[in-house]
Amino acid sequence: MNEMTKISHLGEAAQAFLSRAGKLLIDGQWVASASGKTFDAIDPATESVICQLAAGEKEDVDRAVKAARRAFDDSAWSRMRPVERERLMLKLADLIEHNAEELAQLESLDNGKLVFFARIVDVQGTVDFFRYMAGWATKIEGKTLDVSLGMPGEEYQAYTLRQPVGVVGQIVPWNFPLAMATWKLAPALAVGCTCVLKPAEQTSLTALRLGELILEAGFPPGVVNIVTGFGETAGAALTEHPDVDKIAFTGSTEVGKLIGKTAMNSLKRVSLELGGKSPVIVAADADVETAVAGAANAIFFNSGQVCTAGSRLYVEHKLFDKVVEGVANVAKSIKLGAGHDPSSQMGPVVSQEQMDRVLGYIEKGRAEGGEAVAGGARHGNQGYFVQPTVFTGLGSDSTLIREEIFGPVVVATPYKSVDEIAAEANNTTYGLAASVWTNNLSLAHRLTRRIKAGTVWVNTHNVVDPNLPFGGMKQSGIGRENGAAAIELYTELKTVVMKVG
Ligand code: ADP
Ligand code: MG
Repeated sequence: MNEMTKISHLGEAAQAFLSRAGKLLIDGQWVASASGKTFDAIDPATESVICQLAAGEKEDVDRAVKAARRAFDDSAWSRMRPVERERLMLKLADLIEHNAEELAQLESLDNGKLVFFARIVDVQGTVDFFRYMAGWATKIEGKTLDVSLGMPGEEYQAYTLRQPVGVVGQIVPWNFPLAMATWKLAPALAVGCTCVLKPAEQTSLTALRLGELILEAGFPPGVVNIVTGFGETAGAALTEHPDVDKIAFTGSTEVGKLIGKTAMNSLKRVSLELGGKSPVIVAADADVETAVAGAANAIFFNSGQVCTAGSRLYVEHKLFDKVVEGVANVAKSIKLGAGHDPSSQMGPVVSQEQMDRVLGYIEKGRAEGGEAVAGGARHGNQGYFVQPTVFTGLGSDSTLIREEIFGPVVVATPYKSVDEIAAEANNTTYGLAASVWTNNLSLAHRLTRRIKAGTVWVNTHNVVDPNLPFGGMKQSGIGRENGAAAIELYTELKTVVMKVG
């Protein structure tokens, strides 16, 4: 049991959970880490310790992978009827819904995000996502295929089977902890894989609570294992483990490249959802009010800690001053505060490290000649709050235009022509998302076709859905999650050929 002081704004259920958090979920049991090591969960709004969590390492990962392998081979899971997997997933969705307020409070406490958004985006999104993916369990299909070769007169019957890839290692980030765990777990469970999930060390609470609900729903032991701990230890051990068939990762491009290389040592399947530097393009004909609200939301939602954050704002020169003034005014008006406070409009960033990183970029922006027309500093001196910041005056080679900041910092730049903006939008190593704000239909189509990004939105930003493929081109990743694409990520295609005559 964790010793802890009561957190006054937390409900009873969330408070009670904290006193039992701090174990790993291996083979259906809650266990301490083999080394007995722990680490602190920190509240980013107050910098105080929430509770201690188990620091899983190589030995724990090995146990978890062995449990996942046993569960994968066990008939209780491998021969479970698809409709039964669906039923378990629907039950889990019901349980998440039933415990939604507790999960939202834990997510807000752990990550810093507004509890309001945790309810409607993170937790409700998770419920919907499990329900959506539950439906896929009964809809996995192969094809029948004609065969032309063979000796004259021979006949063949050939078809493909889609089968679960096996034991999946899933490493997720801290920006949408519960939702990212769900994007990984739900398709894997729908197709019959077993999982070892490694939450981000900054935000492990909701994954652990989800683990409890997974057991309560009745998934067989070992189907989902959860190992909390650090990336360099637990995450690396999972990536290196020879008995893991696939690694699914969401996080930084830097770590994604490392994971991809390591995974190749045993030719694991790999899917990577990495960083972005998504352009928001506002054409001269756009409705200014809509575009301003959209551009502000694209960068400031979740304190800018969104892989698809609209961190490069390009405005056609005639509208530039108006749009920049509008977004700067939004930035200045945002009230920063703890996620649980209903008057807060933006929470802190997740950690001291992240705050230092973002403030470092702000410094760099000034050093490279940019002007912060809104924000540009830390807010207060307790908690990891960074002011929503709007930069102008930075060229396309500047650090703030090139590198992912993962904080509430946007760089605004004017443009003149479609060709110029298409080239500039693509002048990045990333290719995750983009948005185009215009009422000109042909311009919208011209740009959506030319922009190299996994998702392009028109007159909106950050719309994701369980049914819509999501992922990055270029250095934003490999593979597409969600929708039918996710089913492909977690299955292997097997070709069966039978001589029938
Ligand atoms: P950030 O730097 O923003 O925290 P990361 O990409 O480092 O983002 O983290 C995303 C996830 O990857 C976290 O769960 C983290 O623990 C994990 N991770 C970090 N480094 C490694 C690594 N070398 N191997 C495997 N996982 C890692
Ligand atoms: Mg890191």
